[in-house]
Amino acid sequence: MTTIESVEPATETVRARFDSHSAAAVADAIAQADAAFQTWRTVPIADRAVPMHALARLLRDRKDRYARTITTEMGKPITEALAEIEKCAFTCDFYADHAAAFLADEPVVANARESLVAFEPLGVVLAVMPWNYPFWQVIRFLAPAFMAGNAALLKHASNVPQCALTIEEAVRDAGFPAGLLRTLLVPGADVEPVIADARVRAVTLTGSTATGARIAELAGRAVKKAVLELGGSDPFIVLRDADLGPAAETATKARFQNAGQSCIAAKRFLVEAPVAADFERRFADAIRALRVGDPLDPATQVGPLAREDLRDALDRQVRQSVRMGARVVVGGSKREGKGWFYEPTLLADVTEDMPVLNEETFGPVAAVLSVRDADEAVRIANSSPYGLGAAIWTSDIAAALAIARRIESGSVFINGMVASDPRLPFGGVKQSGYGRELSHFGIREFVNIQTIWIGPAQQPAKVANAE
Ligand code: NAP
Repeated sequence: MTTIESVEPATETVRARFDSHSAAAVADAIAQADAAFQTWRTVPIADRAVPMHALARLLRDRKDRYARTITTEMGKPITEALAEIEKCAFTCDFYADHAAAFLADEPVVANARESLVAFEPLGVVLAVMPWNYPFWQVIRFLAPAFMAGNAALLKHASNVPQCALTIEEAVRDAGFPAGLLRTLLVPGADVEPVIADARVRAVTLTGSTATGARIAELAGRAVKKAVLELGGSDPFIVLRDADLGPAAETATKARFQNAGQSCIAAKRFLVEAPVAADFERRFADAIRALRVGDPLDPATQVGPLAREDLRDALDRQVRQSVRMGARVVVGGSKREGKGWFYEPTLLADVTEDMPVLNEETFGPVAAVLSVRDADEAVRIANSSPYGLGAAIWTSDIAAALAIARRIESGSVFINGMVASDPRLPFGGVKQSGYGRELSHFGIREFVNIQTIWIGPAQQPAKVANAE
């Protein structure tokens, strides 16, 4: 049995310890989730909305406590943790209100007297989740999955066990059937056999590309649906006609929110040469003004990183890039003392062979690269193995739209910052994964898209005969 620890990143204090679940406890959780699914699938969508709205209310009522749990467990500033809970509540209401429309039968004219497409639940879905948005990542999967009639097993990241148990508590208190969500407190590798269990019908992962490859392999062997939301190295393109004030201000938020630990954080700043110096100056000033410190202080804008190993990995990427010629404009090292803090950092004169450009940087480090023109920006944007999000800043919207369609990423935001929104689909291409979360696309990932055909066949029956 392994011990799963909750360690406060700002103080390095162990706050809680849990024994990991035994194989028997995991088997019990699968059985409970499957039993809950068998009844939940028969509940009309309108009735599923009742506990979903209750969950939204409960999240809002308890948001101070829940936000504190997030901040003490993974270190994000309390203001961001509160906003995360609000977003979860909004998303629960959104799916409670719209699931019936998203999953309504679709009549189709074919060769039948009547034919239609129905959307039926799949069953128990295993959700393997990361620590960086410990409530949001879970709720954005869970709200649509539950509204579609599925049950869930949650394997949360090992550094956020209290968040995992708190979400389970919230779901139970909101009035969902017992067992519909069960948390598995186990280390990553121990959840692998769960994917092969016949009652588990699909798996969704938000995490690193390496873990995604492993889960896809296991899901492939078991012939199961998988949705993968993996890493990203989003470009933030600033063209010569951009409004540099808002661009630099948004760049700061897009890179340093959550101490840079976001898959859709802007990571590579590609700036057209004529405005590169001006943008760098504005960006550097905004970064220097960031308030780093105790994440429980509402004035704090940048907290510690969530784990020591993540901070060390980031430090290696910065040091190596500096050795290769990157210029440190702001920050550039770990902060001394307790807590896994890293100085908000701006590196300029970055080149394509440096780790801060060709690897994902999961922390408060911005890499700025001057580019000749929009074509070079697009080439470098697409040179990444990732393809999650991208931002373009320009006053020429027609040009931006044309550029957007040449960028290989799941989303492109023009004059704005890449963000998830339950009303818009979210996901990536290339090494950033496949499948979509949120919007009507997300709720249709974990359903059986079922064709229903009612005879007799009508004439002419050309389509059916062709088979
Ligand atoms: P990670 O190591 O891949 O962990 C993510 C989850 O996978 C954790 O619950 C982890 O459990 C579990 N896991 C690890 N190995 C596993 C295995 N062999 N089988 C099954 N589960 C396993 O990711 P991380 O490094 O902590 O998180 C940061 C990464 O996630 C970044 O690359 C980031 O870009 C990505 N991310 C992507 C999105 C998105 O929406 N696209 C959002 C957030 C983060 P343990 O904690 O027990 O190891």
